[in-house]
Amino acid sequence: MHSLNNYILIAIVGVITFFLGFFISMLFRKKKSKTFEDSFSISPIPDEKEEHRAPSFSLLLNQLLAIYRNLLICEGVVYLRLKDSNFEPVAASAGTEFNNILIPDTEGLYGILKSEEKEIIADVVQPQALKYLKNCTEPYSILFYPILRRGEVIGMIAGHRAISNPFKEKDVLAIKRAARFLDELEIFASREQKLEFLRLRWERMENGIHEMLKQNDPTDMAGETVRTLSEILPLKMGFIVIQSSLYDYASLITHGFPPPEMETFEPNSWSYYLFTHQEESLYLSKEVGIDTRMPILTVKEKFPENKIVYLQKLVSGNNILGVAGAIGTPSEPFTEENKSTAYHFLKEASALLELSLLNISLQQLAVKDGLTSLFNRRYFTDRFHQEFSRAERTTEPLSLLMIDIDHFKKINDTYGHPIGDVVLKEIASRIQLSVREMDIVSRYGGEEFCAILPSCKLNDAFDIGERIRTSVSSKPILSGNTPLEATVSVGISSFPEVAKSEKTLLSSADSSLYEAKKSGRNRVVIAKK
Ligand code: GH3
Ligand code: MG
Ligand code: MG
Repeated sequence: MHSLNNYILIAIVGVITFFLGFFISMLFRKKKSKTFEDSFSISPIPDEKEEHRAPSFSLLLNQLLAIYRNLLICEGVVYLRLKDSNFEPVAASAGTEFNNILIPDTEGLYGILKSEEKEIIADVVQPQALKYLKNCTEPYSILFYPILRRGEVIGMIAGHRAISNPFKEKDVLAIKRAARFLDELEIFASREQKLEFLRLRWERMENGIHEMLKQNDPTDMAGETVRTLSEILPLKMGFIVIQSSLYDYASLITHGFPPPEMETFEPNSWSYYLFTHQEESLYLSKEVGIDTRMPILTVKEKFPENKIVYLQKLVSGNNILGVAGAIGTPSEPFTEENKSTAYHFLKEASALLELSLLNISLQQLAVKDGLTSLFNRRYFTDRFHQEFSRAERTTEPLSLLMIDIDHFKKINDTYGHPIGDVVLKEIASRIQLSVREMDIVSRYGGEEFCAILPSCKLNDAFDIGERIRTSVSSKPILSGNTPLEATVSVGISSFPEVAKSEKTLLSSADSSLYEAKKSGRNRVVIAKK
């Protein structure tokens, strides 16, 4: 009978092992056949510390305990896990209810089991000693068996029987095998949990990269980066400072707090420290705001006093693009795994950010004039067409200014071409400073400029034209110590007050410029209605 029981046990263990194998293969199959679209419907990442189990595990556990109960021919079997020096009942065979209590691993029989690391058989145990059993009123015979992993007690199996039928030595072998199998099941479940956790986190990162790729603008891309970071780290707040002199780009993106007003890094901050030093990352787990008063970003920041911070430099190739920061709470410190995940994710994100910065700067190169940094003529043509269509559609006014430097040839002839260039650049800058932010100033030809003034009526355009004219004529342009006098002539036209079509808007502004030249230069002329 005894050896028959063992054969049944081996057969059952075989069946369960088969099912576990099947589970593992399902897990990997699912991963392989996962498509990119699947990443969009992912459930929340389980907290690493939380007891996250597939429902199949508790089901298996209950069935296993039911089998052990039959095997031991007893009233019930309870499985207790050892956690922080307490035994805690976690599962029981059907028909046996357990209490949600913690039993110190030093107490009575439990203490003996823990210290001796071997089974205990007791023929009569009083109810008060069986506190893990719910509504226990009578004494029982018990068999406690420790579950050992690497020579340490990690839990126990407790069977109880009527005292008229106490446990015997022969019952120990069966429960010994049960204990080993239960431990293997635990190991399998925690591996499966870990795999599931890694798979979900990988999906989050993949999804983040996918979202980043949808963005054109480096700032939007950094926004996706910091959002993804918040999904793979237990962070409360996060930020990214992009600061690239190579691409002439600066931006600050925050997550979980409003962006502080800052143009660039503040010199006495941890972010700037990292930006300007060798280290690639910094983990400030206690010294922030306690040992040193150095802020993370700026003296005006309002982060909690009690915080942990992970900072990483955004590096792509040899280029330093900025710094990313994750701010969390000391109660949930970033694990080594957290930091390593963040590191690899931000490495990849930095490469994408650089591509986006490069893209933007190439776009700029294609639309900007190299000498004056104003828009070029090609851009003007496209934009003028767009703005005219918009004005027509919305019946908003649209004005156009044509500006030409007076007797510029003479400046070139007198001082030479390089000094002519200095004058050209300075006048371009004065024009740019005289218009509104929404206006589009372009270099139209050699020493001729053009300004598109959306939502601007003829009268207002005249004021802007005058502002440009006086900004040039009112003070000489310095080339070294040589003051150079220069003036400009301006021709203005406006839709719909003067011109009704795109073509006539351009030609009438040009005619007014011609009028300005003809009537003496250094003046602003409005096209006739
Ligand atoms: P007006 O008052 O009638 O406009 O006289 P102007 O001399 O300004 O006009 P004109 O069209 O006769 O001469 C324009 C000069 O601008 C000739 C050309 O060499 C010069 N120029 C055009 N592009 C550049 C440039 O990029 N750099 C410099 N230094 N000179 C330029
Ligand atoms: Mg000229
Ligand atoms: Mg000209």
